[in-house]
Order: sequence, then structure tokens, then C-alpha cells
Amino acid sequence: MELKNLSLAFLLIFFASQFLSGRSNDALAGVNHSIQISPPDTIPPFLIMESDEYYPEEGDPSIEEEDDEFEEGEFVQHYDVATLSKMTAFEVYAAVWDTARINPYGLDLKTKSDTTMLTLWRNPNSDYSHPTCGNVTSEFGMRGHRYHYGIDLDLETGDAVLSAFEGTVRIAKYSTTYGYYVIVRHSNGLETLYAHLSRILVKSGDKLKAGDLVGLGGNTGRSRGSHLHFEVRFLGQQLDPRQVIAFEEYSCRTQQLPITSSSFNYQRVAAEQKAKIGNTRYYKVRRGDTLGKIAKKNKTTVKKICKLNKISTRTKLTPGRRIRVA
Ligand SMILES: [Zn+2]
Repeated sequence: MELKNLSLAFLLIFFASQFLSGRSNDALAGVNHSIQISPPDTIPPFLIMESDEYYPEEGDPSIEEEDDEFEEGEFVQHYDVATLSKMTAFEVYAAVWDTARINPYGLDLKTKSDTTMLTLWRNPNSDYSHPTCGNVTSEFGMRGHRYHYGIDLDLETGDAVLSAFEGTVRIAKYSTTYGYYVIVRHSNGLETLYAHLSRILVKSGDKLKAGDLVGLGGNTGRSRGSHLHFEVRFLGQQLDPRQVIAFEEYSCRTQQLPITSSSFNYQRVAAEQKAKIGNTRYYKVRRGDTLGKIAKKNKTTVKKICKLNKISTRTKLTPGRRIRVA
């Protein structure tokens, strides 16, 4: 009898989950570009299931390195930072349009002396769209030994990822860190970044409304498990997305967002942390590697590698093993 009840419960959960996944796909995958996401309170609480995706362990140095500012790219124009720092935020945006570098502005916003007031929306119902309806799985801030410069939202590969505000696509390309990613510049003064996509559905210069499709969620780049890495940036530098968005309510947290130097205080914490672990480097053992070869490749000595990894010179190195080299 108990067993029967249990199977019934499983069946119920199975059909309920089929219903839920079918429904969320329908709600998101259409070509209608002004898609509204159902608020979470319409989903019965017993249907919310824990994700079984693998997320990197704390301190795993192979997790996303979000700081992609100095990425290679077809960057051609050089902007004079001294001139830019005398301009207002909107003058800087008007002066700089770069389809290769995430942060082409190069400004130090920790020393910003004034307040820039951004009006995020005029109509709360149509000017903001939640990028994807999954739960927050990782916050902005310290994560293990590294700083995490965005918020991770759970999704399934293939789920729609939507532009948060209206704007113009500035970058749509691939990076080893972010995978397929898109940056949209919004007329409210923010830029948003959508990373680890399985497909990009826009190109630089495309005009988007809030809720327009930018791509499909995925697991590309330095990512383990499908999710959306979402960043909010002002003049190229990340803000805690929670300053802008109430993720649990699927809405904008505020209409007026003041940007001051203190919005970038986190950079001091991140810089201190980076200095602490600055020289730590890892190497993945390849077939045929010996400690001698690895030491030579990484400009170090066998003795140092052994000490860092608490191994001896006779330790067998299996391909794929990660060892610390600095
Ligand atoms: Zn992330």
C-alpha cells in the first residue's frame, strides 16, 4: 500500500514536471518578441525542484573568470582616458562604440566624484523584462577564492534569454571565458551581458526592445552546467545586479538608480583578493608530460612543483590531473 502511494506520488511529480517544463518552454520560446514571463507565484511551490546540475566547488580555480577586459579582439580605436574622464557618462557612451572589447572605456570609477542618476524605466510593465525565469544559483561577490562579477540564473540549454531593457547590441561573439555572449547597451545608461549561451540570435547594431530574444541559454565557455551568467555594467564596469533587479520578484528594484564611487567599492575587495592569490597558477597534465617538462614549460623547478602539490618526484602523473605550478 505504501509502495503504491509512493509510485502515485512519483507519477504526480513526473506529470507535474512535464507540465511545468512544457509550459515554461511555450511561454518563452515563441517568436513574439515582447514575451512576458509568468511571475513565480503562479507556480505551485511543490513543483519547484532542486537543480541537480554540477556547480564548481568553492575555490575551484577553473570556474569562470569574468574579468575579460583585456581580451584579444579586433580592437582598433584608442580612446583617450584623460579626455573621457572629463565627460558625462552619456557623452562617453556617445563617443565610444566598440564591438570587440567589453570595457573599452578604461575609466576609474572608484574615484568618481559626482552622482549619476539613471532613470531605469518609465513604464514598469513594458520597459523591463526578466532575462530568464530560473532561480539565482550564484550571487555577485566573493565565490571561493575569486570574485564573481555577475549573477548566475538557472536554465536549461535552449531556454530563451531576453534583453532586460531596450537598447542596441554592442557585442555578440565568443570568448573562452564567457562562451557565446551578448552585450546590449541600453539607453538608460546601463549595459547588460548575457554569457554561456548555446546560440546567439542577434548581431552588433541590432535594436532590441525589453524582452526581445538575445539568444538561447547554454553551457559554453568556462562554465559547468547550463546557466545564464548575467552582468549589469555602467561605463564598462560591473555593478551588483541586485542593485537594479529584484530577482525573486522578476522586476526592477528601483526606477531611479544613483551611481556613485561607492557603487564600485567592491573593486577594492576584489583587488585585495586578486593580490592574495595573484600568482597562483594551475597546469593540466597532458599525455607524455614529466615533472621536468612541466617545470620547464611553466618556468619553474621540479622541487617547487613538488612542494606546492605535496608530491614526490616519483609521483605518477595521470593525464588530466591539475597541478599547481605557481
Ligand atoms: Zn557567473
